[in-house]
Amino acid sequence: MAHHPDFLVIGGGVFGCSIAWHLARTGAGKVTVVERQGLAAATTSRAAALLTRMRLKPGQTALGTETRRTIDEIEEELGFSLEQHRVGSLHIAASPQTRGELEKLAAAAAEHSEPFEWIDPEDAFKRIPWLQTERELRVGFMPRDSYLDPYRLTMAYADAAKARGVEFLLETEVTGLMRSGDRITGVRTENANIEAGCVIDAAGPWAGLLAAEAGWHLPLAPVRSHYWITAPGPLFPKDNPYVILPDARAYTRPEVGGLLFGLRDKASLTCDPRELPADLAAPVFPEDPEGWDVLIESGPGLQEFFPALAETELAHYVAAPSAYTPDGQFVLGALPGVTGMLVASGCCGAGIACSGGIGRAIAELATGQDSHFELKHCRPDRFGEIDSFSEDWRKRCAEGRSGKTSG
Ligand SMILES: Cc1cc2nc3c(=O)[nH]c(=O)nc-3n(C[C@H](O)[C@H](O)[C@H](O)COP(=O)(O)OP(=O)(O)OC[C@H]3O[C@@H](n4cnc5c(N)ncnc54)[C@H](O)[C@@H]3O)c2cc1C
Repeated sequence: MAHHPDFLVIGGGVFGCSIAWHLARTGAGKVTVVERQGLAAATTSRAAALLTRMRLKPGQTALGTETRRTIDEIEEELGFSLEQHRVGSLHIAASPQTRGELEKLAAAAAEHSEPFEWIDPEDAFKRIPWLQTERELRVGFMPRDSYLDPYRLTMAYADAAKARGVEFLLETEVTGLMRSGDRITGVRTENANIEAGCVIDAAGPWAGLLAAEAGWHLPLAPVRSHYWITAPGPLFPKDNPYVILPDARAYTRPEVGGLLFGLRDKASLTCDPRELPADLAAPVFPEDPEGWDVLIESGPGLQEFFPALAETELAHYVAAPSAYTPDGQFVLGALPGVTGMLVASGCCGAGIACSGGIGRAIAELATGQDSHFELKHCRPDRFGEIDSFSEDWRKRCAEGRSGKTSG
């Protein structure tokens, strides 16, 4: 059992493992990660894991850039490759509104010297065999975008952290916080109390439960994200770019010879975090367990771009809650009036892509430095005092996901 670590991270998802490695790299003290299941067992392993480089939300492009730098460093440290699929991304706009968004993306790419090419729709149809539509399109191609296996990335953060002395307590649940006045002094687990210099709540969609115990409601809620994977077939070449299709509320990428496609519900499902099971293999959204409601609602919109959808066999369905916020931003930093504790959560479908930047930002704050990232958009108190368990609040977070149009 851990003896008084300087930094105790709750949660062994992609955030917790990245934070642990970044902390170990600073050499600022002993680091322990406490995870109640196995590493990457919750939201992380279920992600589509698109590493979209350009994001229009303030601050997120920089967090993503840092992730790619971190991946390079960790690959070198461990001596193996995470085998990113460097396929590029196609952004397809079929309405005035989405064309406007795409123009903004092109402008942001130019500002960051990130390659962006306008391509002819006919060229897009040739590159993507399943794509065909009568609608008038503008198409942008970003050749450097990639995706990877989120489980392997998390294990790489964890292996690199272990090599630097981080201790992992798996299958150990944090059951409460220890405090003295305004200071969080450690955690209680099923087996023992662990005192710590700084406690970091990286508990994904459960993060709000621990923060509420510390006296602050986090501006997030568990909201369902999901995708389907088709059976393999000749329409789905393995090296195809991933595709962002906001007019169909959809994104796609290749997956084991088939096509992974995600659809964003018009009204996303959410649940009370106090009722979220610890093991996501249990039913979380029993009102629509296999996503059929959304397939019926949004499938026809996707079919306008993917005419063969109706005849395509679906092989898998994957769903998980992720910690959505109304403004599509993360939740990073200290809680008002609480010392000795930091939070790293919020997701908005970009947590894998931004995990390296988030790990570094939290390590900087935990070691008493100013972060060199712009974190004001991610402050845990940016919505003031809220009741994050209320239905109204959860609805606002669900709308945050339903309104998302980026990759
Ligand atoms: C379907 C889907 C598609 C996605 N696609 C993308 C994408 O394309 N690109 C992208 O960047 N992101 C994507 N995401 C988002 C991404 O998966 C998340 O942002 C990221 O995994 C969040 O990681 P986390 O470490 O915060 O949470 P988690 O992975 O949920 O980790 C939290 C950990 O905390 C542990 N824990 C909780 N409470 C306790 C406790 N009391 N004691 C001990 N341990 C505890 C849990 O067991 C869990 O392992 C997607 C998500 C989903 C669901």
